[in-house]
Amino acid sequence: MFHFLSKTAKFVWLLCIVAVAGVATAQENGASQGSAVSSLPSVLAVRVTSTPERARLIMDLSAETQFAFVSLSGPNRIAVDVRAEKFVGSDGGIASGTGLISNYKMEQIGADRVRTYLSLGGGAQVQQAYVLAAFEGQPTRLVVDIIGTSDDLFLLKVAEDAQASSAIAQNAANAADTLTQISDAPGASQIEAVSRPLILIDPGHGGIDGGAETAEGVREKEITLLFARQLQEVLIASGRYDVALTRESDVAFWLEQRVQLARDNKADLFVSIHADSFDDPSIRGASVYIRDEEATDVLDKVLAENENKADLLSGFIPDAEEPAVVNILVELMRREMRRQSFIAARAIVDQLKPSIRVRRFPLRRADFFVLQSPDVPAVLLELGFLSNSSDSENLVSPAWRQRVAEAVARGITSFFDGNR
Ligand SMILES: [Zn+2]
Repeated sequence: MFHFLSKTAKFVWLLCIVAVAGVATAQENGASQGSAVSSLPSVLAVRVTSTPERARLIMDLSAETQFAFVSLSGPNRIAVDVRAEKFVGSDGGIASGTGLISNYKMEQIGADRVRTYLSLGGGAQVQQAYVLAAFEGQPTRLVVDIIGTSDDLFLLKVAEDAQASSAIAQNAANAADTLTQISDAPGASQIEAVSRPLILIDPGHGGIDGGAETAEGVREKEITLLFARQLQEVLIASGRYDVALTRESDVAFWLEQRVQLARDNKADLFVSIHADSFDDPSIRGASVYIRDEEATDVLDKVLAENENKADLLSGFIPDAEEPAVVNILVELMRREMRRQSFIAARAIVDQLKPSIRVRRFPLRRADFFVLQSPDVPAVLLELGFLSNSSDSENLVSPAWRQRVAEAVARGITSFFDGNR
């Protein structure tokens, strides 16, 4: 049932970095050489949000397109280029002076290219960027996440970008040269050989415990397993994680066993998958829970109890034995895990927000039994409401689940990349 994958890391990391850099270079190259074509998409709108630690650019587009970045000094900026015909709406704005990005400005810098300059207060770098296909009335979106970095690292990136640009200008078609150059770049040889984080995905319910149900009779236990498999695939494909499931078939599994599995295997992150249900069918949207002994929201309490009750009704009563000794080290560990759980949940919510419908307050706390490991960061993802018809339609759609899986994977990567 539980498969522990082998751990090799160094080579994969290097390959990933080279591959990503190679793609970015190819996009840069393609965008600069492309001739104006009438079918190029338009930029519909741009918005930037910024805090001192991180910033996000969201660009609405009329269709999917290519994009590239370049870091520039004097003044310090990150330029985001998209292959597009024109931009509509305002050409810039100010994202309140104190953030990582002080302001931004858009320019048409060629027949086929729109550039957005992001002015930086200090050092910064692109953490991740992705295009979301149009969905549920939302247009196609380019999302660029930017995080703070040291001034030295930023200037190094500026120099690398300048070198890459001149190399492309000298020999645009020589991909082999580009790869050699990037793999020899400063820092590339200093990546440590570390083992890959183990992520344990926990598809909720199973066996005689079906969980909630849609009006059409689709059961929560089926959706959670289907989603867990999709998320596992996306995470494994990144080459960065070992990923296992607590259950891989329709079997009943104690809540306590799920917790124990995470602890025994020293999982680096435990992600429990569920779908909500509530009396009011208008309530919809995804949310991410972390454990809290004092849940304040009545709805959260009811839902948390339902999850726990389901387990009891199945005849699986968790061992009530209290630990004989609760020392301060355990408490400190628990606090640290809570902190990490919060950061992981926030990172996942940050990626869900632009991708799918989330609840009004998507980051929530409740007393879910399955989140109580004192030594494993744990989050519980409620994908949506089976009691809502729109959510139900989404939950049974493989394409929708894929969209969510990719967003959750981005959140997980952001968590592991960030300062834990
Ligand atoms: Zn559930």
